[in-house]
Amino acid sequence: MELLITGASQLVTLSGAPGPRRGVAMREVGVIENGALLARNGTIVAAGRSSDVERLPAAKRATVIDATGKVVLPAFVDSHTHLVFAAPRLTDFEMRIGGAKYEEIAQAGGGIASSVRTTRNAGREELAARAFHYAQHALSYGTTTLEVKSGYGLDAETEIRILEVVRDVSSAELPELIPTFLGAHVVPQDTPRAAYLKLLTHELIPQVSREGLAEFCDVFCDRGAYTLAEARTIFRTAARHKLKLKIHAEQLSRTGSAVMAARMGAASADHLDCVTRADIAVLAKSRTIATLLPGCSMFLGLAYPPARRLIDGGAAVALATDFNPGTSPTLSMPLMMSLACTQMRMSPAEALTAATVNAAHAAGRGRVVGSLECGMQADIAVFDASDYREIPYYLGMHTCSMTIRKGKIVHSARRP
Ligand SMILES: [Zn+2]
Repeated sequence: MELLITGASQLVTLSGAPGPRRGVAMREVGVIENGALLARNGTIVAAGRSSDVERLPAAKRATVIDATGKVVLPAFVDSHTHLVFAAPRLTDFEMRIGGAKYEEIAQAGGGIASSVRTTRNAGREELAARAFHYAQHALSYGTTTLEVKSGYGLDAETEIRILEVVRDVSSAELPELIPTFLGAHVVPQDTPRAAYLKLLTHELIPQVSREGLAEFCDVFCDRGAYTLAEARTIFRTAARHKLKLKIHAEQLSRTGSAVMAARMGAASADHLDCVTRADIAVLAKSRTIATLLPGCSMFLGLAYPPARRLIDGGAAVALATDFNPGTSPTLSMPLMMSLACTQMRMSPAEALTAATVNAAHAAGRGRVVGSLECGMQADIAVFDASDYREIPYYLGMHTCSMTIRKGKIVHSARRP
């Protein structure tokens, strides 16, 4: 089963040293003009100039995709989403437009608590149908790997149901769904704090690990959510149960959670709107990816995280959508790249690195996807563009014409 994609205006390989990219290395995206790529059984076996790749014996028997006038790049990795929920929060949306603050929206029954209410009441099929629809939507933006968090259940039954939905919806026709247990999203309104923490550490984390329902454990450490000490306790329990770590850190206030996560070897610290210079120095020396979520800043009308200081300070920066029903209702990685360039002063090359290679490391898939090199999985996005910089340039325009996962076409746009 050979697949040849040839004649691309640009084949953007993102090839380079193994591991996440930092500093000036984030600007080296590896553009090959008139490029081609050959895959066999879902794995990339050659990438280079069309004239060289087409000459290979295996290219002769391959199915051919003509990429003339197109940009071919690694499919996006969206390493932070809350994909499983029951309903959009349209009342919150209107209240916020009208000037209501976070606390007023919460008092009116909105916010995360309202998503918890609707998600608890939703049946398994309803949640699965929605998750399937959204995951399919992600393919149309060129995304083939999606991290998916629980966190709108906040009781044993619904948290497990959400993770089971992620498992049951997964298929070769969708992006890979990587499950994360976010039972520690906020403290539920109907359970005392200490009792809920005990449920998390004594029952749910052990169960999730035992049943293989999640790969990561995440905590929202912020005012109104979990304290640093609570986050540390949850992390220790998760690590003991062989779950990898992620954290919602330094979003609304500076808590010290990014440094704690870096010291405990977390895969990523996400949001980081309020990081300090000292925090950045610790992140730069760690394996923890700094994942920025500009969709959230845009949708809430808040300041953007300091991408420039993070990159120039040596942190490995990734971009993700934070797709969720309240604060970032988008699955468009190209839009995240546009916001990164226009609002956070990242260069198009830095934004592309952040949405592919570095995002793959944030999702624990850095050795599998994120670049177009021999031995990597053939997860590929094809865009109607002759230069990769057009992807963030055409703001909110839908330019992904084909998405390929493991060498198979999983999305193909009809010409407008
Ligand atoms: Zn989030």
